[in-house]
This record gives sequence, C-alpha cells and structure tokens, in this order.
Amino acid sequence: MITVAEAHKIIAQHTQVLGQERRKLDLCGGYILAEDVYSDIDMPPFDRSMMDGYAVRSEDLQIPPVELNVVGFIPAGSYPDFKLNSGEAAKIMTGAALPEGADSVREVELTKPGHGANSVIIQKRTQPGLHVVKKATEIGNGQRILTSGMQINPAVAGVLATVGKSTAKVIRKPRVAILSTGDELVHPSENPKKGQIRNSNTYTLKALCDSFGLECELLGIVRDEQEIIRHKISLGLQADLLLISGGVSMGDLDFVSDVFKYLALQILFEKVKIKPGKPTVFATHDNGIVFGLPGNPVSSSTVFEVLVRPAILQMMGKTDSQNHIVNAEITEPFYNRSNRENYHPCMTYYNDGKFFTRPLRTKGSGDIAGYAKHNSLLICPPNIVEMSAGSACIVQLCDNYFS
Ligand code: AMP
Ligand code: MG
Repeated sequence: MITVAEAHKIIAQHTQVLGQERRKLDLCGGYILAEDVYSDIDMPPFDRSMMDGYAVRSEDLQIPPVELNVVGFIPAGSYPDFKLNSGEAAKIMTGAALPEGADSVREVELTKPGHGANSVIIQKRTQPGLHVVKKATEIGNGQRILTSGMQINPAVAGVLATVGKSTAKVIRKPRVAILSTGDELVHPSENPKKGQIRNSNTYTLKALCDSFGLECELLGIVRDEQEIIRHKISLGLQADLLLISGGVSMGDLDFVSDVFKYLALQILFEKVKIKPGKPTVFATHDNGIVFGLPGNPVSSSTVFEVLVRPAILQMMGKTDSQNHIVNAEITEPFYNRSNRENYHPCMTYYNDGKFFTRPLRTKGSGDIAGYAKHNSLLICPPNIVEMSAGSACIVQLCDNYFS
C-alpha cells in the first residue's frame, strides 16, 4: 500500500497539462493564461483626477483661502480642450483628464462657492500631483503586463479588459464525467425502498468540480453489474477526468478495478494509506485519468480533496497544484486509532495571527451530516495516538472555503 505522498507523486507524474484554447474574456475566469500579454495603451492614458473637485495650479494656492475663476467642467469621459491659466480652476470629476496647466486637484469638500457666479473658494493648499495619477504610471504602452502561467483571477480579468483583450489564450480545464455505482442507490427524488439509499456522491462530486468551474457530465447511477459498468465507464473515458464512486473495495460486487483491467486502463495504484479512503484506484488511459473513489460519502469527498484536487489543478496548468496546508493549533484533544494518515474533518479559523482547528465529532465515514460542517482536514500522521488540546498540528484548508 502506498502513502499519500507517494500517491501525490504518481498522480503528478501521470497527469498531463491539457491543451490550449482561445476563450472569450467573460468566460476566462479561473483559467491559466497560456500567453504573455502586452498592453496596447498607457494607463492612465492621461493625467487622471482621483477626486471630484477642482483642477488647480498649486502655485495659485500658496496662501489659502483663494478664490479662483471656474473656467470649465470636466466630467469623466470628456477631454479638456482648454488650458488652465493663473487664477483659474476647472471643476473636475473622478476619472477625468486634467487640463493643461493644472497640476493638482482639490477635493470638493475643501472648497466652497465663490462670490461670483463662476468662482470657487479653495480652502487649502495643494502641491503638484495631489490627487492626480500621472499618465502611464500604472501601465506603459507595450509593457508585458501579464505572463503565461498566471491564473485569471478577477483582477487579471480586469487587466485583460483594460489592455484591450476581448479573448485570451488559456489552458483548457478538464471535462469531467461522474459515475456512481451501487445497487442500493436511487435518485434523490425517489423514496428509497427497503435496503436502498439516495445517491449523494454524484452531487457532492459535482459541487466540488463546480468550485473549479469545470464542465461535468453526470453519468448517473449504474448497477453493480460488470457489463453495465463497463459500458458506462467506456462513455466516461471520453472525459479528461472520470470520477467513479463505489465498487472499489473487496466486496463480491466491487467490479470497478476488474472493469479497468478489462478496458486496458493502466492502473497505477489501488490502495492508499489514507483514512478514510483506503480503497482508492487511480488509472490512466490515452485521453485522460480516472479515479475510482470509495463509495462512502465522507471517503469520496476526502479523497477528492486530498488526491483529485491537485490532479485537476495540474491539468488546468496551475504551476502550484499542491494542497493548501497550514500550521494550526488544535483546540480540542484528538484521538487517532488509524495506522494510516488520517484526514479528519475539522473547523479551522484564523485569529490573532494564527490558525486554530477544532476536530469535528463525526460518526465515521458515512456521517455525511457531521462532515458537512467541515472547512478543512486535520492531518494526523499514522504514528500519533493522541493530540492534546493546544498542541501544534497541520491542516489542509479546503480551498472552496478559504480562497
Ligand atoms: P462501496 O464503496 O460501493 O462499497 O460503498 C460503501 C458505502 O458507501 C455503502 O454504504 C454505500 O451504500 C455508500 N455509497 C456508495 N455509493 C454512494 C453514493 N453514490 N451516495 C451515497 N452513498 C453511497
Ligand atoms: Mg457499492
């Protein structure tokens, strides 16, 4: 049986970064940029006011208050075609271009109406540059402003728009297929008969994939019959990533590994020293990768968080695909009875410069309601029997909640 660290290594070695595609800017969020991006403009394109107020010449305001003639109004979107001479001011709105001759802006709050119809009293001095962003100080025309490999976070999307890119070349995100196996499973809309339960894994796995913005095909529920499983898995192999839940343990009707072998998938491991989630199968084929996840809802979610997450990030082209692990202080004692690396659901919060983690008291790997309260996973090494309250621990933050 391999360790979690070994499983991570094998997954990383056998997972390919997907190809590139050009996407419309409004459909680029979360993708990894596959090109360097150069600006086609200066930003700001002109000396820009940061305030609603008056564009002035600072030399006019040496001894305030000073009354100035208001010679123009400059809303954002217009461009002043006049020059500001000594003794003059122009009313200006945030984001508008300063007129020639002006060197600063005094915010409206520090002004009052003058004695004439078109005059203003400026109550405080300015100095050159006050409340002004000079042309090209943020972005220069021709400058490389984004580099290949960056993730298109909301701010990056804004930069792309600013520098005139209505499309971007990105790395494709994996298309996922999700299949749940089990004779006992029924659709959530059904009333389970004796011996049956509702299929929850499909929806948990789908929601986990949603957090990466992945396109998913739901292949539904398949009965524990080799031929039907084979058929559904063959369909699922068209996806870049196939997630199967159930049917990977030692039971008489656990056929997933057999089907993988029948379909000539390359099985790279079938068991991992992780609790929960020992019977996890990882396999590859010409078009992508496949995870056979244990059927227990807590186990399949945990294995997704620990092993599938980095694989997805790697396919998406993220250079740092590692899980988000932090040092924390455990707030309640934790007793470990496993000789496998134990990923226990917990609630982690940040306070006064430090993470604190409270292990949840769940009722095992079927306790989906208890597990639903977690936002992180306490990682307890196999050799540790007890962690006392106040001791140091490490925790995997489940990114959906923390980023
Ligand atoms: P298995 O890994 O197929 O042996 O399933 C282990 C446990 O997980 C059994 O109690 C199943 O009923 C449960 N289980 C399997 N698949 C699902 C599913 N899709 N939704 C909810 N529970 C499941
Ligand atoms: Mg089963």
